[in-house]
Amino acid sequence: MTATMDTPTGTTPAASTFESLNPANGDVVGVHPIASKADVDAAVARAREAAEWWEALGFDDRANHLLTWRSVVTRRIAQLADISHRETGKPHSDAQLEIAMTIEHIAWAAKHAEKVLGPQKVKSGLLAANQASTVEYKPLGVVGVIGPWNYPVFTPCGSIAYALAAGNAVVFKPSEYTPGVGRWLADTFTEVVHGRPVFQVVTGLGETGNALCTADIDKLAFTGSGATGKKVMAACAVNLTPVIIEAGGKDSLIVDEDADLEKAAEAALWGGMSNAGQTCIGTERVYVHENVFDSFMAEITEQAQGLRADAHPESKLGPITMPKQLGIIKRHIDDAIAKGANVVMGGSDAVGERFVQPTILTHVPEDSTAITDETFGPTLVINPVKSMDEAVELTNATDYGLAGAVFSKKHGVDIARRVRSGMTSVNSIIAFAGIPALPFGGVGGSGFGRIHGPDGLKEFTYAKSITRQKFKPVLLLTTFRRDAKADGKLATIITLLHGGKKTLK
Ligand code: NAD
Repeated sequence: MTATMDTPTGTTPAASTFESLNPANGDVVGVHPIASKADVDAAVARAREAAEWWEALGFDDRANHLLTWRSVVTRRIAQLADISHRETGKPHSDAQLEIAMTIEHIAWAAKHAEKVLGPQKVKSGLLAANQASTVEYKPLGVVGVIGPWNYPVFTPCGSIAYALAAGNAVVFKPSEYTPGVGRWLADTFTEVVHGRPVFQVVTGLGETGNALCTADIDKLAFTGSGATGKKVMAACAVNLTPVIIEAGGKDSLIVDEDADLEKAAEAALWGGMSNAGQTCIGTERVYVHENVFDSFMAEITEQAQGLRADAHPESKLGPITMPKQLGIIKRHIDDAIAKGANVVMGGSDAVGERFVQPTILTHVPEDSTAITDETFGPTLVINPVKSMDEAVELTNATDYGLAGAVFSKKHGVDIARRVRSGMTSVNSIIAFAGIPALPFGGVGGSGFGRIHGPDGLKEFTYAKSITRQKFKPVLLLTTFRRDAKADGKLATIITLLHGGKKTLK
């Protein structure tokens, strides 16, 4: 069977099903329906009804259902990892790691939703001292989630679990490369809620995603490329549906002269090559202080020996999941070499028909596509810098701003603060992704909105402010009976409160 265009499907245009294929060998993993606009609308209508039941359960019952689901996913982790392994090509052990991190998030969202979103007292201020004020965060209703294939469990569940914990129903459109994973997630959750359509899946290609954007949903959480993100925003604009966009990245790992070079090299290698480089928060660029550049290169080259991408069951690197990416990876490598980059490992010939061998380039000109655009392959560009100021400046020079890492004994956190990105790990790699309390998301071309943590829960709610009058105000202002005397008193009070020159310092 041949893959047609950008999709993994070998079906005819009129077909109402598509196949997911194993990228390591082309085997058919599963056949799935292409949900039409009517199918998507029907799923959203079912979700709307289910959302009422789900919201009415309250925080405790919802948490218990989510924690039961967490246990189901945990006990069947090998089953889910196997589907992910076959649909994405990633090593089974990596699939398991991804699911383990997701389980942590489901548990955190379930256990923290009430504390973050439940009614909280706020101070009413001196002018409104007769009022008791609270704020609480109410579910939006039905949340649409559109996911990518590269982390088909972790990434969408960052929206799904948090939206569910906040009291919403979810309709999920998984990537056409990983429909089996999406189906498995929705099916297991549905078992836990005894068949209620609180979390449904609709499978299909881009058109099905577009149908979800224009359906009667209350928010759309999208993870994927920036180019598709723009189409999603345009489609959502029709109904003024708010969106979260989790898009691509071009993250750097910065190595200071006082860094532990062995650890920094280990992190750069894993950050750049794991999941065959198909990681939104993967390391694509490394900026190393020139004083330690040679030592760092010696270290990373040694550690990279023996790392190979192939179909062997024990292989640490799998295939490139999406065939069209192979051309992009090759073009980035070729462009860098044509502009004068040094090839330390791999190179143009590293790009095969399904697999790409680890490639390390140094002294890559900053205007190369390998520096400016997301490569999404097992490639690293490593450039020396004169100072950490230069490392930060170059890091911040792309439009992306997703994540990154800094290795430095003394100045790690200071450097991290200056990097324009949503997340930075200091002296470790992508550690933030496994810390459920930390919000996850980017700036600029990497998108906006946050999943994970308190921000990730609030993202799927609206703030509801309530203020209750406890006793009559000393000065009633919201009345036509207000007279000149009251106006005078107000002027005096407001001058006393705010007319002075006192500042915080
Ligand atoms: P993609 O943009 O090709 O597809 C993402 C999803 O959008 C798929 O489900 C697809 O079917 C759907 N889609 C396609 N056209 C659509 C349309 N017109 N309307 C609505 N939906 C449509 O992205 P991908 O190749 O699946 O994923 C890789 C990209 O995702 C990379 O850029 C990667 O960096 C990014 N990513 C980002 C994060 C993050 O958290 N920021 C996480 C994982 C992946």
